[in-house]
Amino acid sequence: MNDQRSSTTHLIHHPYQPPEGFAAPQVGVFKASTVYFPSVAAMRQREWKDKSAYTYGLHGTPTTYTLEERLCALEGGQQCVLVPSGLAALATVALALLQTGDEVLIPDNAYGPNKALAEGELRHFGITHQFYDPLDPDDLSARMNERTRLVWIEAPGSVSMEFPDLPELVRRCKARGVMCALDNTWGAGLAFAPFDLLRDGTLGVDISAHALTKYPSGGGDVLMGSIITRDAALHLKIKLCHMRLGLGVGANDAEAVLRALPSMALRYAAHDRSARTLAAWWQAQPQCAQVLHPAFESSPGHAHWQQLCGDHSDLAAGLFSVMVDARYSQAQVDAFCDGLRLFKIGYSWGGPVSLVVPYDLATMRKRPTHHLSKGTLVRFSVGLESVQDLQADLQHSMDLHLPLV
Ligand SMILES: *Cc1c(COP(=O)(O)O)cnc(C)c1O
Repeated sequence: MNDQRSSTTHLIHHPYQPPEGFAAPQVGVFKASTVYFPSVAAMRQREWKDKSAYTYGLHGTPTTYTLEERLCALEGGQQCVLVPSGLAALATVALALLQTGDEVLIPDNAYGPNKALAEGELRHFGITHQFYDPLDPDDLSARMNERTRLVWIEAPGSVSMEFPDLPELVRRCKARGVMCALDNTWGAGLAFAPFDLLRDGTLGVDISAHALTKYPSGGGDVLMGSIITRDAALHLKIKLCHMRLGLGVGANDAEAVLRALPSMALRYAAHDRSARTLAAWWQAQPQCAQVLHPAFESSPGHAHWQQLCGDHSDLAAGLFSVMVDARYSQAQVDAFCDGLRLFKIGYSWGGPVSLVVPYDLATMRKRPTHHLSKGTLVRFSVGLESVQDLQADLQHSMDLHLPLV
């Protein structure tokens, strides 16, 4: 019968089936919008929410299901939803959990676009927000009211690197029965366990959102985010919102993250070692007013990092910031950044290339920042280059652009 069909049809409906049992290190890249059902009855009965089957590419493929399970293992969660960026993970959590009249509390040093989301779309939907002081759990408690539905926490804070008392912030949320979501991009599932903050199974966040764009991808070339939970009903709420919004990730991107996951812990530790070496170098320079790195005593909240990570994983990622002394102008600091050769100027982190960004902190914070020295803030994301070469790069540009006076 097949022989009577034209070759055009054979190119689409060819009878050949490769043998089963193919096994190799890397998961296959399954690409699909359409997924076939064997019969109409099977189509009607098919269930996708629990990963027992397939219905449509957007709802999951073997590639994305596998990535979800491995990320759950990384962070100690039970369920995972994949989204096209880290920011999409933060936005999906907000849209899934908040309604008109609700309020969300966000740390003042949160990842900037999460604050912009609250000030933009959420406000337009009639959802209010407050920014709390992440170093003061009493400030968080005082701001909670009967409309508070969601509290974001983040450790350390974006750019200024303050490390909050995460267990205490989570306790304050639990005491009020308010949902607590962590932006876990920095910890990445390696520095501490988000669902088991005390390592005795008694305290964890409700939701861990993670920009896989950073360490899980590791290449500076993939945008993706995950939302991990331990509660089936909470997961379903997020998953349904995710489905209705039409969010999903490309199979090639999922494969790229799957490929990078096995080396992630080694890369994370290497970024960490080099970052500490360079932060220590900065600390010894008279041009430096303050090193902002959670593993350094000069950094606000250092004791909280020590308690959560230092005594256990002893990990601190590859990011740090420096307050360049106030006697140097913004133009001098900009020239120093421009004068670097190995450190590229650009956003994001977690890839092989070291990056530098000068920030204008005054425009980023609603609350006073007395805990920070005066000066110009520069953030470094330390890549995987030789740390001696990176230090020489810093020294060279400093000699040229930040002269001792
Ligand atoms: C980068 C980042 C995000 C957003 O990730 P994208 O994939 O770039 O959207 C969210 N939170 C933190 C802490 C980040 O560093």
